[in-house]
Amino acid sequence: MKITLIAGARPNFIKIAPIIKAIEKKQSEGIHVSYRLIHTGQHYDKNLSDTFFEELNIPHPHVNLEVKSGTQAEQTAAIMVAFERELLQNPCDLVLVVGDVNSTMACALVAKKLNTKVAHVEAGIRSGDMTMPEEINRIVTDSISDYFFTTSTSANTNLLQYGTPSKNIHFVGNVMIDTLYQNLNRISLPDFWETYKLEPKNYVLLTLHRPSNVDEEQSLIALLKGIDEMAGDKKIIFPIHPRTKAILGETPIQFKNIHFVAPQGYLNFMYLIKNSFAVITDSGGISEETTVLGIPCFTMRTSTERPETITVGTNHLVGTSTTNLQKIYSEFLEKGLKKAGIPEFWDGKASERILEIIVTSYQ
Ligand code: UDP
Repeated sequence: MKITLIAGARPNFIKIAPIIKAIEKKQSEGIHVSYRLIHTGQHYDKNLSDTFFEELNIPHPHVNLEVKSGTQAEQTAAIMVAFERELLQNPCDLVLVVGDVNSTMACALVAKKLNTKVAHVEAGIRSGDMTMPEEINRIVTDSISDYFFTTSTSANTNLLQYGTPSKNIHFVGNVMIDTLYQNLNRISLPDFWETYKLEPKNYVLLTLHRPSNVDEEQSLIALLKGIDEMAGDKKIIFPIHPRTKAILGETPIQFKNIHFVAPQGYLNFMYLIKNSFAVITDSGGISEETTVLGIPCFTMRTSTERPETITVGTNHLVGTSTTNLQKIYSEFLEKGLKKAGIPEFWDGKASERILEIIVTSYQ
C-alpha cells in the first residue's frame, strides 16, 4: 500500500519522524508499504524546518510545495491547490496528516475530495476555543477523516460526542512522545549554556507564540515584564519564535533576567526542558513533553486541548495575565511540584501501533 505523509510545520516534523521509522520497520519485515513525504513549506525558516529534518533523521521530502506564509485563507488555499496537483499526479491509498496546523486541514480536505482515505494522528483533541485557528483545523479534519488515532481518553470522548463511529477511533498514544523517547540519549547542551552560566535548575524556559499572547506589542511587553519580575534568582531563557520576534522588532527591550535566544533545534531544546527549573509556555506540545519529563509547566492560555497534562501531568493552566501566573507560580514555590504521572500509552510505541492498525486494515 502507498501512504502519503503530510508535514508542514515544526510540531509536524517532530510527529512524523517516528511514523516514518515505523513504516521502515514494517518494510524491513517484508510488508508492502511505501510512503511519499510531502513538505507543504508552511514553515520554511531553517530553525523551524531543516534543523528538524537533520536532527531527527527525517528523509528529504519527495516534494516541497513551498507555500510559505500568508493569511489563514491564502495559506490554506495555496496548500490545497498545490497538494491537489501533487495527489492527482501521485495517487495513494491513504493520506496521513498529523496535528492541527493549516497543512493538516488543507491536505485532509483535498484527499477526501479525491476520494482518498484520510488518517488523522492526534485526532479528537479540543480546546473549545473557536478563536484558535488550530481548533477549527481540528474540527474540520476530524469531520472527514477515516482513521482517528488518539492520544487521550478525553479525545476519544470528544470524537464519540461528535458522532465518530467508535470502530474508527484508535487510542494509540502520543507520537510526539515516541520522538522524545527515541532521542533522549542524544540531547545536547546549547552553545549559549556557558555564556549565560546555566546550570541544571537555575533557569526557567519560556516560549510564547500564540496570537492571543504575542500579537499585541504592548500586552506582550507587559507579560514579559511580569515574567521578568517573577523570576527571582532564576534566569529566563526565551527561544523567540519568528512570529513573536516580528512583533517585538529587531532590538528587543532589555530585561533583567530574560535572555533572548534563537528558536532551538530539537536536541538542544529537549536538553533545555529536561534541565530547567520550570517551563512557561503557550505551546500544547511542550506541555506534553514537560509532563513526561516531570518538569513543572505553566501554560499561558485560558484553555487546553490536552487536559491530561493537568489532571495526570505537571501542567498548570494559568490564563494570560501575569497576576494569575505569579499567584500560581508562588504556590508552586511554596508547595513544590504536584504529584504527577504519565498518561496512558505515552510509552514511545504509538507510531508502531498506528502502523499495525493501518497495515492490518489493508491486508
Ligand atoms: N520546540 C523546539 N524548539 C523550540 C521551541 C519548541 O524544538 O525553540 C519543539 C517543542 O519541544 C515541541 C514542538 O517544538 O516538540 C512544539 O512546537 P510549537 O510550540 O510550535 O507547537 P504547538 O505544540 O504549540 O502546536
